[in-house]
Amino acid sequence: MEGSIEVLIPREKVESRIKELGEIIAKDYEDKNLVCVGLLKGSVMFMAELTKTMDIDLAMDFMKVSSYGGGMDSTGVVKILKDVDEDLTGKDVLIIEDIIDTGLTIANVKDFLAKKMPNSIKVCSLLDKPSRRKVDVKGEYIGFEIPDEFVVGYGLDLDEKYRNLPFVGKFIQKK
Ligand code: 5GP
Repeated sequence: MEGSIEVLIPREKVESRIKELGEIIAKDYEDKNLVCVGLLKGSVMFMAELTKTMDIDLAMDFMKVSSYGGGMDSTGVVKILKDVDEDLTGKDVLIIEDIIDTGLTIANVKDFLAKKMPNSIKVCSLLDKPSRRKVDVKGEYIGFEIPDEFVVGYGLDLDEKYRNLPFVGKFIQKK
């Protein structure tokens, strides 16, 4: 897909917000059994940066969920492609996501993980597009609320491209 990328949230702003979030989360989970569950692949960069700022014991695990085919439209179909490896019984699960859009992914993942009998499940997302919500879910820890734009960078892709951009950019499709 042809287009250009405009910086929406510059690198320094993303990094300082992640540090802030990490400090808040570390305080909240100091005496808990934290397992960070990242959703592949979009959350990888965010999760790596976030957990580096958290000076507490934690475990890291990953799930892969598919909700989008290629391109910019949501199919709304959510499939669990990879389960976690850890036993989550009695654990405090923090789902790490790149962006909450319709909320379908998070709603499905929360239901799926709840069956594993954790002590708690919360959600941390770098970005949130509240105006696009189709189901009533919200993240407890949000980096930035953004308008209804298609964004790339900092883990977010367009057909597997742009994940490595060190900022959050707006993709502007060529007419
Ligand atoms: P939801 O299930 O909340 O609609 O969608 C969540 C997933 O959709 C995200 O993990 C992400 O993969 C994808 N997504 C939603 N909005 C965007 C966006 O603006 N840019 C990119 N690259 N992916 C998005």
